Amino acid sequence: KPVKHVIGQTKILAIINQKGGVGKSTTAINLAAALGAEGKQVLLVDLDPQGNATSGLGIDKSEMERCIYDVLLNDATIQQVIIPDIVEGLDLVPATINLAGAEVELVSEMARENRLREAVGSLRGKYDYVLIDCPPSLGLLTVNALVAADKLIIPIQCEFYALEGVTKLLDSMKRVKSRLNASLDIYGILLTMYDGRTTLARQVANEVRTYFGKQVFETVIPRTVKLSESPSYGMPIIQYDPEGKGAQSYISLAKEVVKRG
Ligand code: ADP
Repeated sequence: KPVKHVIGQTKILAIINQKGGVGKSTTAINLAAALGAEGKQVLLVDLDPQGNATSGLGIDKSEMERCIYDVLLNDATIQQVIIPDIVEGLDLVPATINLAGAEVELVSEMARENRLREAVGSLRGKYDYVLIDCPPSLGLLTVNALVAADKLIIPIQCEFYALEGVTKLLDSMKRVKSRLNASLDIYGILLTMYDGRTTLARQVANEVRTYFGKQVFETVIPRTVKLSESPSYGMPIIQYDPEGKGAQSYISLAKEVVKRG
């Protein structure tokens, strides 16, 4: 009989950058699955109304009756919407397009910034990691993630304007830190879609490392076709192409995330 996994202190990490297309959902799916494969118990919360983390793990959004939206509006508990055992060690709280309405509907609600914190806070001790895949904006959903998170993982795409908007994100982080979540900080900056053949990618990586120093993960996520294909097969990269560079990079990131704790 397998030894029961003992959960340590739960870490709630938001994967955040208000710029779209920088690799948030790809990182959410693949880091979560890689942490699961490392023997951790992981919950991935899809907080992006596009639901790319949900569909990328093979869940049909149109079949879902309830999602994180119902939890934020207090119409369901988070336990009621968890889909267990997506892959080894990984549970999912899905998003559907309903979530797009939450941004507006929450405005008139009490304690609207604290809804996600209350929900995921109730799961402390049940998971090693709770990862939150954030929407590409600094609206109320993202504020909920900033209030709920212990720390942030910020993916930065190795392209032109890589740092654009990051200052604004850090301002939001500081505001939430001073008012609502005193221990909030950066857990790590992640360089994504790196193509070492281009001078630009190397320049951007150097610039980010100069600016953020040790906060940048040593692991760099390469740009690979397999990583862009795997969501359409509903599989994390460690299943879709286990031997490839993409899978290896997310496994290495998972080990670094564990070590950083
Ligand atoms: P975000 O969640 O920040 O909007 P995504 O993770 O959805 O970003 O990535 C944007 C697009 O880039 C998607 O089509 C995704 O498949 C692709 N992509 C992300 N990371 C990589 C990578 N390392 N290599 C190749 N394509 C990638």
